[in-house]
Amino acid sequence: MGHLHSREFHSIQAQQIFVLHADEPSLRVAFAPTWSNLFQRVVQSPDPAATVSLPGGFVTPELDQRKRKIHVNISAQEFDWLGLFTHEFVHWLSHPRFYPLFYKSVPGTTNDIVEGLTDYITLKCMKGYADGLTPVAMQEYLCACAARSVAKLKKSERAAYNWAGQYTRARNWLKAAPGNERAALEFVFRGVQTHLPF
Ligand SMILES: [Zn+2]
Repeated sequence: MGHLHSREFHSIQAQQIFVLHADEPSLRVAFAPTWSNLFQRVVQSPDPAATVSLPGGFVTPELDQRKRKIHVNISAQEFDWLGLFTHEFVHWLSHPRFYPLFYKSVPGTTNDIVEGLTDYITLKCMKGYADGLTPVAMQEYLCACAARSVAKLKKSERAAYNWAGQYTRARNWLKAAPGNERAALEFVFRGVQTHLPF
C-alpha cells in the first residue's frame, strides 16, 4: 500500500514533500487534477453549480505516500500558517486506507469524517491550551467556527465548507468512549479500519 515506516520517514526532508506556490494561479494549476479526479466527486453540495474555491493547500492523493506532495499558496492571507501546514501534513502522513480510500468511499460523508479527524489531530498538535489551541489560535478558531459565521454562508457554500461541523462531530465521537481516540489514530496513521459512527 506504500505506507511509510518510521525508518524511511526520518530520511525525508520537508522540501521533498512541500511545494510552495507564490500565488493563487500557480496553486490553481497544481490543484486542477486533484480537483477533477477526487475532490469534485467527493465534496457534495446541494447546488450543482457550486464549486469549492481554491483551498489554501491540499495533498495529492497518491496511495504511495512517497509520491504525495503538499501544495500550499504562500501568498494567501487568510490562513493560520501553523494550522494549515499541520493540517496538510496530517493528510500527508495519513495511511492510504484513510486518505484517499476512506475519504472517497462515501461522497459527502467520509470526506467530512477525514477532515474532522484531521482538524482534531491538528489542534491536538498545537498543545498547551484547551483542545490544543494557543490563545491566538483559539481566538481565530472561535471566530471561524462561530455558528453565526457558518450560518452566514450561502446554503450551497455551507455544504462544502461546514468544517466547524466536521470538527465538532469528530470531537464528540472521540470523547464519547475511552477507546475511540486510540481507534481513530490507529485508523488515520496505521490504516486499521474502525467504525466511525458520526
Ligand atoms: Zn483537509
